[in-house]
Amino acid sequence: MSDDRDAAGHVEEWSERDRALIKAARRMAARHMVREGDGFKLSKHDPADIGAFVDGGHPLISEALTGKDGLKAATKELLAEGVRILSRMQDMLYAQNRWSLLLVFQAMDAAGKDGAIKHVMSGINPQGCSVHSFKAPSAEELDHDFMWRCTRLAPRRGMIGIFNRSYYEEVLVVRVHREYLAKQQLPHELVTDAIWDERFKDIRSYERYMARNGTIVRKFFLNVSRDEQRKRFLERIDDPAKNWKFSAGDVAERAHWDEYMRVYEDMIRSTATEHAPWSVVPADNKWYTRLVVAATIVDALASVDLHYPSLDAAGRAKLADARAQLMAE
Ligand code: ATP
Ligand code: MG
Repeated sequence: MSDDRDAAGHVEEWSERDRALIKAARRMAARHMVREGDGFKLSKHDPADIGAFVDGGHPLISEALTGKDGLKAATKELLAEGVRILSRMQDMLYAQNRWSLLLVFQAMDAAGKDGAIKHVMSGINPQGCSVHSFKAPSAEELDHDFMWRCTRLAPRRGMIGIFNRSYYEEVLVVRVHREYLAKQQLPHELVTDAIWDERFKDIRSYERYMARNGTIVRKFFLNVSRDEQRKRFLERIDDPAKNWKFSAGDVAERAHWDEYMRVYEDMIRSTATEHAPWSVVPADNKWYTRLVVAATIVDALASVDLHYPSLDAAGRAKLADARAQLMAE
């Protein structure tokens, strides 16, 4: 039996290259992570930032590469390696069946949520992962508390759950369009000016509760600029294969851009915490967005003690027994 176990009896999991990648991923994740909401200013976050590469370079990318195009090509490989590491981490998460990971994605239209989810999760075992998209709520959903439709779909132990939009819409689109709140059938006396702060408080409590129960919570705001959104909308209109992604209402929603930015900022201020941080991911360059998202998920999984379930001496003896029986056949 191969026995590359460490002192605790765990299988030795990572090569040196892997460990370097994980370290670099964690550094990249930290750069864009907001763990303390107080004083958060969205205007300080540039949607076109590719800073993790520019400031002092990047240990895993050759210095010979200059310019955005070179970086873009090089990061493709880096993303592939990141996905390979992620898929191994997911395998351990699943085997261990203790922790779960909840990933929440929020963004303006065309910021690249779908693409990021698709690329980053491409190497992941579908059995260990679920993706849920939350659109305008149904009549049944409106007849429940605002978190109900999401909380019932939270990931089981060992699983990665992805929310493509989430209960955060309740402090975003519902705040920008107050008429949606009126549809929620809340008792009148409960709808006061304090409602957004109350929702923030409830969300913080829920996420702390999840963390205390073994769910790692990570939240992504894909920060696209208004200009880049315009470009992407035009692409969707001009490319027949992308027409389906476009709806006329999306353009009308741009009129509320500043208001959206204000509520996003307030949301991050009010709900970025140590145990459920927001990542403000620059989203004007898709290749960079995907890399930061992958890095942040690697960071999240690296923050807990992930390993394949280990066997004690008695368990190993049983294995040896079983092996002997099989060999004797
Ligand atoms: P996406 O825009 O995420 O790529 P999509 O365009 O396919 O997806 P839409 O049909 O636009 O999906 O559904 C998402 C819309 O539903 C968004 O405009 C969002 O603001 C809205 N929505 C989500 N949750 C709520 C909610 N709780 N109340 C009202 N509207 C909501
Ligand atoms: Mg949409």
